[in-house]
Amino acid sequence: MTEVLDIAKKDGRWTECPSCKEIIITEKLEENLWVCPHCNYHFRLNAARRIVITCDKDSFAPLPIFAADLDKKGGSDSYEIDNAIKGGMARIEDLSCVIGVMNFAYRGGSMGMSVGNAVISLMKHAKMSKKPLVMFCASGGVRIQEGIWGLFQMLRTVQARNFTMDVPMITVFTDPTLGGVTASFAALADIMLAEPGSSIGFAGPRVIENTINHRLPPNFQSAEMLLSQGFLDRIVDRHQLRNTLAYLLRWF
Ligand SMILES: [Zn+2]
Repeated sequence: MTEVLDIAKKDGRWTECPSCKEIIITEKLEENLWVCPHCNYHFRLNAARRIVITCDKDSFAPLPIFAADLDKKGGSDSYEIDNAIKGGMARIEDLSCVIGVMNFAYRGGSMGMSVGNAVISLMKHAKMSKKPLVMFCASGGVRIQEGIWGLFQMLRTVQARNFTMDVPMITVFTDPTLGGVTASFAALADIMLAEPGSSIGFAGPRVIENTINHRLPPNFQSAEMLLSQGFLDRIVDRHQLRNTLAYLLRWF
C-alpha cells in the first residue's frame, strides 16, 4: 500500500498535506484552490496559478513596461523577471487594477535588481493609470547573492513608494514573506492582508533563536500573531480573497 501511495504522489495524482499529512487527490486540491480540505493548510502557489485564481478570466495583461525592461537587460534577466515576479493590468470582479505577484518557486522569490525594477515599474504604472495596486508578496527577502545591489532594492522600492503614496496599495502577504521584502515596500501598503498560517517577518525564527539563545513561541512570525499585534489588517482565507479584494477595490 505504501508503494502505491509513493507512486501516486510521485506522478502528481495525489498530494500529501505537509501540515496534517493527509493524502489528497491533486485534482480535488486544485478545485479547492490548493487549500487542504482537512486542516485548511494553504499550499504555496506559483505566480501563474495565483493570477488565474485571483483575476477575472483572461483579464491579465502583462505590462509593456516589463517588456521594455527585458529588452534592455537581455536573455537571462528576461527569464528571471518572468519567473521571480509577474505583473500587469488585470480585473478582479470587473474592477480594474495593477497586480504584481511574486513567485517563491523561483529563487525563493528573492528581490534582486530585476525584481526591484519590476516593483518600481508596477508602482509607476499604477500612478500613471490612476489604478490601485495589488501586490501578492512571497519572498525570502533580498537576493543576497547580488550583494549591495540586492540590498539597494529596499531603498529603491521604498523611495518609489514614497513618490507614489497617492496610489492605493493593497499587500497580500502569502507564505512566506520575509527579510528585505517585508522590511521595504510590502509593509508600506495602505491595506495589509495575509493568508492564514503565513510566515511574515524579517530574520527567520532559527536565526533569531541562535542569536538570542532563547526559545521562541511556536506561533512566532505567523500571520495570526502579527494580526494580534496590529501589523496586519485582516487574515483572509484563500476562498474569500477574490471577494475581499473586489470589496476593497470598490473603495478606490
Ligand atoms: Zn492538511
